[in-house]
Amino acid sequence: GSASHPLHIFFFPFFAHGHMIPTIDMARLFAARGVVATIVTTPLNAPLISKAIQKTITLGYKINIQTIKFPSVEAGLPEGCENVDSITSPNMIGNFMKAAAMLQEPFEQLLSEYHPDCLVADMFFPWTTDAAAQFDIPRLVFHGTSLFSLCASECLRLYEPHKKVSSDSESFVIPNLPDEIRLTRMQLSDFDKTDEVTDINKLFKESREAEKRSYGVVVNSFYELEHAYADHYREVLGRKAWHIGPVSLCNRDNEEKAQRGKEASITEHECLKWLDSKKPNSVVYICFGSVANFPESQLREIAIGLEASGQEFIWVVRKSKHNEEDKEEWLPEGFEKRMEGKGLIIRGWAPQVLILDHEAVGGFVTHCGWNSTLEGVSAGVPMVTWPVSAEQFYNEKQVTQILKIGVGVGVQKWVRMVGDSIKKEAIEKAVNQIMVGEEAEEMRNRAKALADIARLAVEAGGSSYSDLNSLIQELGSRCH
Ligand code: UDP
Repeated sequence: GSASHPLHIFFFPFFAHGHMIPTIDMARLFAARGVVATIVTTPLNAPLISKAIQKTITLGYKINIQTIKFPSVEAGLPEGCENVDSITSPNMIGNFMKAAAMLQEPFEQLLSEYHPDCLVADMFFPWTTDAAAQFDIPRLVFHGTSLFSLCASECLRLYEPHKKVSSDSESFVIPNLPDEIRLTRMQLSDFDKTDEVTDINKLFKESREAEKRSYGVVVNSFYELEHAYADHYREVLGRKAWHIGPVSLCNRDNEEKAQRGKEASITEHECLKWLDSKKPNSVVYICFGSVANFPESQLREIAIGLEASGQEFIWVVRKSKHNEEDKEEWLPEGFEKRMEGKGLIIRGWAPQVLILDHEAVGGFVTHCGWNSTLEGVSAGVPMVTWPVSAEQFYNEKQVTQILKIGVGVGVQKWVRMVGDSIKKEAIEKAVNQIMVGEEAEEMRNRAKALADIARLAVEAGGSSYSDLNSLIQELGSRCH
């Protein structure tokens, strides 16, 4: 761009809902400040983005979509597999990453054609740093995680405390962090177990190296939530970072909140009608994100645990029924009949932010994906933490040990995609711990205070608002 042109920024999210959703929000935030945003994706991922930006475009924001073909078949994947949610077994992940790496050439084509002023690209595309450098375009990295977990995994790699314990279940402290954080080797992700040479570990290594050569990092978080880690990341670890979140707060009305992500399996109207009939803070919302999958035996434990807790609930189950008569053997006999009016099961996709932000919702059982965690913080609800994979165990520690706005359900082991098993008694107990009693009240008060600060952070003059401003200014002066 030149002095007479607005900044043009390319956004390139990884093909998973947990990466695409916050990137769309981010593009909107930039567009609200007059930036022209182009989101690059593949044909089958494009509809989700166009649905989410519909309203924004009517507001006059400049957001475009560019698509490049995803080489599923060429990389040994089934036709049409363009999103992590169509990966059905862990051994497809390698091929998926291979296909993603094959996008370099068509992506460079787009860069040479449009020559944007900046590229915000996902950590899963390490090659974008060099691709952008060829055209003298600065690349910013988006991890989609918190500053706390970026610091924690970096310190784990630097000091390797997990190699000094004698068993997988013995806890250790991650050295040199602002708080004393305890973890076990069992809770570490595959990519934090530094010795193994796997495709994924290679990719993470490339990603870290590419990050060192890139312009900086944008983070979906706000300073007040984790100021010690924002400072640590910048000053101790020496990274250039801007925190501009919670990005989900850019969705202002119910319509926008309901359009976030896939087509919801319940209408906005039905959902609000159900919630409107409930008392404030009386409903617990249960959802495990867009990737985690539980076996039927686990779903059954959740059903029994929820019923035993006596709490009203909205429970999102990713398994869908093929038709109305489909028997769901895993549901306890007569469960839905007994729960009528008391519990709502959403099969498929829920309008999560719409639900969390409703005053009837008073608790959140979450897998601790960072988006969900931050959406819970922004809604001011205490959480039951049930981490499964990725960096979710770090997020659990942040919620329970640092922010003290949640209790763990007791997951011991990191597993790729399919969860460790938790008994009904533990579910009942944890749900009641965040919904009733003095401890719940205290957690709720702390969560509500954080939600207020989150809202201020993204408003004019707030910490995230200002960080976004300085980033835009810096990029602007760079190209003038
Ligand atoms: N989400 C939603 N409805 C659902 C499931 C998920 O809207 O039924 C959204 C949720 O609000 C969040 C994202 O999908 O923005 C999931 O991201 P997260 O980081 O929490 O978890 P992941 O799916 O990456 O494991």
